[in-house]
Amino acid sequence: MKNRVWIIIFSAVLLICLGAWIFVTNFNFSTNIVGIYQDNRLVKTIDLNSVTEETEINLSSEKGNNTILVSNGHIRMKYADCPDKICVKHGDLTESGTPIICLPHKVIIQFENPNSDVDAVAGAE
Ligand SMILES: [Zn+2]
Repeated sequence: MKNRVWIIIFSAVLLICLGAWIFVTNFNFSTNIVGIYQDNRLVKTIDLNSVTEETEINLSSEKGNNTILVSNGHIRMKYADCPDKICVKHGDLTESGTPIICLPHKVIIQFENPNSDVDAVAGAE
């Protein structure tokens, strides 16, 4: 009877370790860091995988207003009062696709390369 209890405890610990290992490996492989730039300056970085509920981010400048909608794994321009609305029509930001750019408001939403130098990106006109 006592042996059985130990086997159950040992199995439980093993399962917890396995679960933790799967969690850690998955977490490392699926970071989805997105950077939001305004006027060539990094305003905010978001890990799309850590977003648990839909959030709106409001950006306003003398050029105009943008509302960015963030949800788990997704980011898009929900609203903008720019004349062309290209950023809104762009839809979801995809990893293989082009960044979401609001040219009139100088707002850029793009995936961050963890190895890239932010200054180099910000300096490119
Ligand atoms: Zn726009």
